[in-house]
Amino acid sequence: MLICRDVTELTTDYLEGSLPLRRRLAMRWHLALCSFCRRHLRQVRATVGLLHRIPEPVLAPEAAEEVLRRVIERAPPAGTGGD
Ligand SMILES: [Zn+2]
Repeated sequence: MLICRDVTELTTDYLEGSLPLRRRLAMRWHLALCSFCRRHLRQVRATVGLLHRIPEPVLAPEAAEEVLRRVIERAPPAGTGGD
């Protein structure tokens, strides 16, 4: 049987549907019995929903070129041990 801490740690995997069947069923059993974890699951689900609604930042082409130029300037020359 899962305890609340287990449920908290497995919440993301549960929401992504990546838990094995036994774990998923154990989660559902715990959630049926525990209002704290049901509330936690609702909060995480709401947070994920909000994050998906935030638009991706758009970088102006000039800014992207400047970032790329700076990265290239700071990159160590080939063969000096930099990865
Ligand atoms: Zn719980």
